[in-house]
Amino acid sequence: MKKKVLSHPCRCGGKLVEAQIHVEHLGIDFGLRPGAVCTSCRDEYISDEVWEEVEKKVKKLKLFGLERKVKVRKSGNSLIVTIPPEIARFIGAKAQALVSLLPFERGRLEIQVLD
Ligand SMILES: [Zn+2]
Repeated sequence: MKKKVLSHPCRCGGKLVEAQIHVEHLGIDFGLRPGAVCTSCRDEYISDEVWEEVEKKVKKLKLFGLERKVKVRKSGNSLIVTIPPEIARFIGAKAQALVSLLPFERGRLEIQVLD
């Protein structure tokens, strides 16, 4: 996974120089894109614009195709949402996995797999 942000120096304190970066994300090859590389640690950076383009394409190719509607069920006072197998595979979740539930606005919940 490439780091984004181009406007400040590398975390290591090294200098960034413009370069064509080979961008790959979630197994999708985006080819060479304008970015920067650190002259000391060789870390690669891509700009926010390229990052947005990558995210848009990923959504189109994979996430939209994976969208499923499931019904929320009840267990005691809690609610249960089941994760279909193809989505579980995609996000790397297994039974007994520890996940973090991150509500970030009304009507939206993000699930992050922790192990
Ligand atoms: Zn560096």
